[in-house]
Amino acid sequence: MNLSWSDDHLTLREEYRQLGLQIAEARITVSEGFDYAGWQRLTDSGMWKRVIPPAYGGTGEDWWGFTAALEGLAMTIRTPELLLSIIAQAGMVRALMLYGSEDQKDRYLTAILNGAISATGIAEPGTGTDVRSIATQLTALGDGYRLVGSKYNIAHAPIADFIMVVTRVADGSKQNVALVLIDKGTPGLAHGEPDSKLGNRNLPTGPLYFDDVPVPSTQVLGQLGKGLQQLVTIISLGRAYYGLVALNLPTPFVTDALEYAARRKSFDSTIDNHQYIQKRLVDLTIGMERNRWMVYAALHQLFTHDPQALLSCSIAKLCSAQDFIDGALSLLKLYGSLGYHEGLISQLVKDALGFAAVGGTEEMHQKNIFNQILRLHGTPA
Ligand SMILES: Cc1cc2nc3c(=O)[nH]c(=O)nc-3n(C[C@H](O)[C@H](O)[C@H](O)COP(=O)(O)OP(=O)(O)OC[C@H]3O[C@@H](n4cnc5c(N)ncnc54)[C@H](O)[C@@H]3O)c2cc1C
Repeated sequence: MNLSWSDDHLTLREEYRQLGLQIAEARITVSEGFDYAGWQRLTDSGMWKRVIPPAYGGTGEDWWGFTAALEGLAMTIRTPELLLSIIAQAGMVRALMLYGSEDQKDRYLTAILNGAISATGIAEPGTGTDVRSIATQLTALGDGYRLVGSKYNIAHAPIADFIMVVTRVADGSKQNVALVLIDKGTPGLAHGEPDSKLGNRNLPTGPLYFDDVPVPSTQVLGQLGKGLQQLVTIISLGRAYYGLVALNLPTPFVTDALEYAARRKSFDSTIDNHQYIQKRLVDLTIGMERNRWMVYAALHQLFTHDPQALLSCSIAKLCSAQDFIDGALSLLKLYGSLGYHEGLISQLVKDALGFAAVGGTEEMHQKNIFNQILRLHGTPA
């Protein structure tokens, strides 16, 4: 067992910590919307190359280097949107690497290396949490298929170059799900107005509509009918990464809060001398550190195909998201009425609340954890 980062990974994490600072700084003067400049800087930094094999233009290192880079960014960037974009795209890379045909890998991994933005459409207006009940339908027609249905709340829906859509295959069987790849501009594909959200406003989310979209059979990802099993493997990485970014995002806010508490006076002393104030930062730090090790463990299990990985990835997401929301609220309270003014702290609260739904809700993860307990104890649900 090795519980420390290598020197190379620490150097990489520091590089991306610096890049996160620069992206956050550059963002201040830009109006609301997707951070194309930040995205380009990430692409240029070689972030995607790390997880794409040389055969498709990358350098093909393992996911740990990518993880170190993501952690470094999350430690300084202060707002989650670009991190959520990276997580969505990382899921796409994993999907292509695990299930893509040679042609799909060649086309889409190359596109990602050139800055293309992907989306993954799972949630539907009729069913978000209950993926088994999706209504989007793929029907055989001639050599290929037609796709009919809609998705909602999809990250990058208004700007994506290509989309992985989770769909039912119209053959009457309830378990019959497929993953299909749809390119921007395909006839019948449309997106709606971007959602107006409380936070994470620079991550454009929105609905997607499929009106008889032609899907050649070469656009099916992996095995037709095995979409649900494939999806579980793909989204587990995202779950651990939502945990990773949620636990690291408060980092600079802890430094700020220490400075603020050391100068703000109340009852003849600076407030950092009050144990109730200290407890806020202690609790926040306890949450961050226990989640850090849970996330590392979950990723290790995922990368080594440990059967416990699905359980651990859900625990990592659930606990980190909850601690992030609680920690952001606690920071707001530490600043008194200043925390309630429009600014970095109130923005953190708004952004943190998005983690209650992104990557699956608390109840969904509780259900998954119970199902994994049953599975690991030999009594599948
Ligand atoms: C910033 C952001 C980005 C997102 N990006 C994407 C994306 O790229 N792709 C994508 O597919 N989705 C995305 N989502 C959507 C997200 O995955 C869904 O919001 C989530 O799965 C929950 O679905 P829902 O919102 O429809 O809630 P619902 O399923 O309607 O749930 C409503 C409430 O009921 C609870 N509930 C539902 N079923 C049960 C049950 N069986 N037992 C107990 N409680 C239950 C839920 O936990 C929740 O509290 C994103 C969401 C956000 C906020």
